[in-house]
Amino acid sequence: MNNYDLIVIGGGPAGMMAAGRAGERGKQVLLLEKMDSPGKKLLLCARGRCNVTNTAPLHAFMQVYGRGGGFLRTALETFDNERLRTFLLSYGVETVVENKGRVFPQNQRADSVLHALEAYLHDGHVTIHKNTRVSRLILEAGRVIGVETQKGIFLGKNTLIATGGVSYPSTGSTGDGYTLAASAGHTIQPPRPAIIAFETEETWVKALQGTPIKNATIIAYQRNKKIAEHFGEALFTHYGISGPAILDISKTIVGCLSNGPVQLHIDFKPNQALEKLDETLLHQIRKFGSKTIKSCLTLFLPEKVAHVFLGICNVDPQKKASQITLQERKKIVKHFKDVHLTLVRHRPIEESIITAGGVCLDEVDAKTLESKRSKGLYFAGETLDIDGPTGGFNLQAAFSTGYLAGSSI
Ligand SMILES: Cc1cc2nc3c(=O)[nH]c(=O)nc-3n(C[C@H](O)[C@H](O)[C@H](O)COP(=O)(O)OP(=O)(O)OC[C@H]3O[C@@H](n4cnc5c(N)ncnc54)[C@H](O)[C@@H]3O)c2cc1C
Repeated sequence: MNNYDLIVIGGGPAGMMAAGRAGERGKQVLLLEKMDSPGKKLLLCARGRCNVTNTAPLHAFMQVYGRGGGFLRTALETFDNERLRTFLLSYGVETVVENKGRVFPQNQRADSVLHALEAYLHDGHVTIHKNTRVSRLILEAGRVIGVETQKGIFLGKNTLIATGGVSYPSTGSTGDGYTLAASAGHTIQPPRPAIIAFETEETWVKALQGTPIKNATIIAYQRNKKIAEHFGEALFTHYGISGPAILDISKTIVGCLSNGPVQLHIDFKPNQALEKLDETLLHQIRKFGSKTIKSCLTLFLPEKVAHVFLGICNVDPQKKASQITLQERKKIVKHFKDVHLTLVRHRPIEESIITAGGVCLDEVDAKTLESKRSKGLYFAGETLDIDGPTGGFNLQAAFSTGYLAGSSI
């Protein structure tokens, strides 16, 4: 039976990068993927456009992962955003920078990134078994010497767990790596959603499902204490609220929800003072007095939003603008700057873009990504207790840790 230098469990970006890198170094590598093809989640990234990384400098990168940032230093120094872009270019994938430093393939296609990784595996003579799920690590005297699958046992001098988290399980990431790591003595930090949408107490959101609110300031409070703030785009859904600005503060909100509901205050017009808004609305009302108040509001809000918004203000949308009382006008203006939503729960972890939690970082050597519990066992990617915000940070973490692990064995 073949005794591989490295068995990689999981063909996501982290596993493919690790396998390709070890193969490039002349190691005999076996990649085991339980799905019928590797990289299923990669293909979903940024709705198929794949935000591969970010142009942020190293120190900014390290900050976005919180505690995981320090752990990632060696991985990011070994294979940073520039090296990733050079790697992709060497396989014909040019990249472009979009807003907030987000890097995408120029052709906007995630499959071109997957093809680059597959070519890297091919060049490194990596053996790939698809439809092969690792169900158990085979341990001997505290060392992993192989893995068990439904197709039989494979032996390896080193083993890498790169099975991802528990989000989007249809892509193959179902948390198997946690069970495998625990069997080798590792502590698993409980998995929890990190980039996730929320359900609200208010049901009016349903009428606005699919409607984005752009350039809004969103502040989250719990028991009158500010817990998070973000400027950007939010999106109403049939159950509550999502969108980039919400996803970016979702990790903090998830952490607080176990202590009770979180209040969201939305400022639809953060760049305009209350007095100025009042002046503009008054002008509209005077100019279009015979029209409905709803039509006056379309200067400020999309029509669909204006209708629901007036409902929140207890003002009849069909009321003539000229009949709006001073009190009603003040109420409308106040709500431009402050609409409240009560977040009661997060959506299920299966819908989370990223799984926080995972293999405890204290038990992994950050310089090599080798286990401190079991010699010859390595980790890469989302299986580790590392998560970053949107913007390409999670894929970069997967690529960097994969590359470092593949360089270390
Ligand atoms: C909808 C969506 C959009 C996203 N967009 C972006 C983006 O644009 N930019 C960004 O940076 N991040 C994005 N992410 C996050 C990013 O996709 C992940 O962080 C990244 O894929 C993690 O890579 P990984 O290799 O660690 O794990 P995964 O990609 O989850 O891969 C794990 C692999 O292991 C396999 N596996 C699992 N268990 C076993 C087993 N027992 N035996 C064999 N194989 C197994 C799985 O089938 C899977 O192929 C997005 C995530 C989602 C869900």
